Amino acid sequence: MEIPTPAEKLSSLLVELFLAIKLIAGYPVPQQWPAIQLLDSNAMRAMLCQGPCGDIPAFYLPGRGVFVNARLDFDNDVSARSILLHELVHHVQELSGKFDRIASQCDRWYSKELEAYSVQNQFLRQSGEKRRYLVDSLPQMCADGMTMRTPSAARDDPVATPSAGSLPAR
Ligand SMILES: [Zn+2]
Repeated sequence: MEIPTPAEKLSSLLVELFLAIKLIAGYPVPQQWPAIQLLDSNAMRAMLCQGPCGDIPAFYLPGRGVFVNARLDFDNDVSARSILLHELVHHVQELSGKFDRIASQCDRWYSKELEAYSVQNQFLRQSGEKRRYLVDSLPQMCADGMTMRTPSAARDDPVATPSAGSLPAR
């Protein structure tokens, strides 16, 4: 019996997650897959935070792909898989251009997050997982213009997964 390599395991997980996104939200499985890079916590923080910030599980940068904290255990933790799924939703959102017509950058970001969390929570429900991620805890950035604060997130809080990180670059 052959043991799948980490790359093979990751690509079959991506197929599974893109299919889940298709079933839940209707996005076709993309032809172009994002690069997936595993980084340690310090490298994650160095990429996203100017000052101190909490542990970041994952984030997506358009054109560069998904960055994942190497501590996430996709094999054994459905929450970890849901965090990757959330970032993959951002990838298909980007490819589809579905949100491009929203003029306000802030509203566009918020709409994408709402959808990503919704898909993530439906995935968790379908996986029999009780845990949900609250959209309410998204940083309130639209109220005060474009001030983006990287939330100091609790462990495993995907509020820190943001796309938030990608916002200033867009
Ligand atoms: Zn997000």
